[in-house]
Amino acid sequence: MVGGGIAGLASAIELALAGAGVVVAEATGAPTERFGETLAPGVLARLDRLGLSEVFRSAGHLSCPGTAVCWGSDRIGHNDFVLDPHGPAWHIDRSRFELMLRARAVQLGVEVLPATRVVDVEESGTRTVAAVRSPSGAPVGTRTVSARWLIDASGPTAWLARRRDVGRVVIDRLVALVRIAAVAGSFTAQTLVESTPEGWWYAARIPADRLVTVFVTEPRSARALISEGWAGWHWALGATRLLADRLADAGVTAEGAAFRVGSIGVSRLSRVAGERWLAVGDAAAQLDPIAGRGIHDALGDAGHAARLVAESLRGGRPAIAEFGDRVHARFAEHLTQREGWYDVERQWPAAPFWRHRAAGLLRARPAATVR
Ligand SMILES: Cc1cc2nc3c(=O)[nH]c(=O)nc-3n(C[C@H](O)[C@H](O)[C@H](O)COP(=O)(O)OP(=O)(O)OC[C@H]3O[C@@H](n4cnc5c(N)ncnc54)[C@H](O)[C@@H]3O)c2cc1C
Repeated sequence: MVGGGIAGLASAIELALAGAGVVVAEATGAPTERFGETLAPGVLARLDRLGLSEVFRSAGHLSCPGTAVCWGSDRIGHNDFVLDPHGPAWHIDRSRFELMLRARAVQLGVEVLPATRVVDVEESGTRTVAAVRSPSGAPVGTRTVSARWLIDASGPTAWLARRRDVGRVVIDRLVALVRIAAVAGSFTAQTLVESTPEGWWYAARIPADRLVTVFVTEPRSARALISEGWAGWHWALGATRLLADRLADAGVTAEGAAFRVGSIGVSRLSRVAGERWLAVGDAAAQLDPIAGRGIHDALGDAGHAARLVAESLRGGRPAIAEFGDRVHARFAEHLTQREGWYDVERQWPAAPFWRHRAAGLLRARPAATVR
């Protein structure tokens, strides 16, 4: 497994449950705070497959009953999960969530190599030999792992697919400007989403009395907003209609707040699987965070990929091409939905952010195919 984020660990657990031996190389050490904290409704069924729904429920993650949206007009709309048969969404402590996956993988006999990067792969008959190295060189040094299958779970960099010279179709490039801060007062359990002329915001309460506030915008606007510290970001937040008031009431503590910049390439691999390898999670396709379902889909990919690999290891001939077709179809569906969401917002037709994302424009002219 190249990468031990959510997609890699979930794939490893599914494979271990199917009786396969698995090694996961993960470049980072202990899981740290990462982007993405909302789990879409339906995730409990996916965690149940991993034997983790009960552990998850008792781990202090916060259930989220729906979304309050200010988008397309000044009115506040609500999207409630109260009647959703899949249950609520969740706002999670991301590090704790990944630690839970890691612990379950280890419990099932998966060899997890933290702080270890896959640096080379070479074909050797029916096996692939991967060279892995700790970033600092020590204490692991370099060792090789021989495997019948390799899964690329390395996130949007898609390390293995690139190595296989597979291109990536990039539909859009966005930047997320993220603040994680402590809150002293009360804040809704809903996710708040709001559009502005330069992009859109969301805010969500996460465990340990923290609040994540994110602005998604174009790279050029992002650079301007953070060019003098984060003053521009704070100013833009102050100009919002829904978030500014709610955040003021919540008593956000600026002291100790963490600020991060994340790049988002709404993109997919042109080929998601090949001879004894396949890609899962963001390596296969990275979504616009407006969908809030990258983690949900990564868990789904994990189950599907593990079933195919396990079948192959048993000597069967799994329908690998169908896996790729499914990922591509899901991505196309995401683009259609995304166009619909952006199309609803017509208050600022001349603003570059919305003009560049007018219906169908991005899909008709993909930003780039990169290798
Ligand atoms: C701003 C933002 C907000 C988001 N919000 C949400 C949300 O609310 N809900 C949601 O569901 N999704 C959200 N997402 C998306 C979500 O975070 C991703 O879909 C999810 O992290 C995908 O998991 P992954 O395991 O595929 O990739 P990653 O989390 O990127 O993990 C890949 C791992 O591979 C490792 N790696 C890379 N190369 C190598 C190598 N050569 N050797 C070893 N290890 C390697 C990396 O260290 C990394 O840990 C958001 C994304 C962004 C950017």
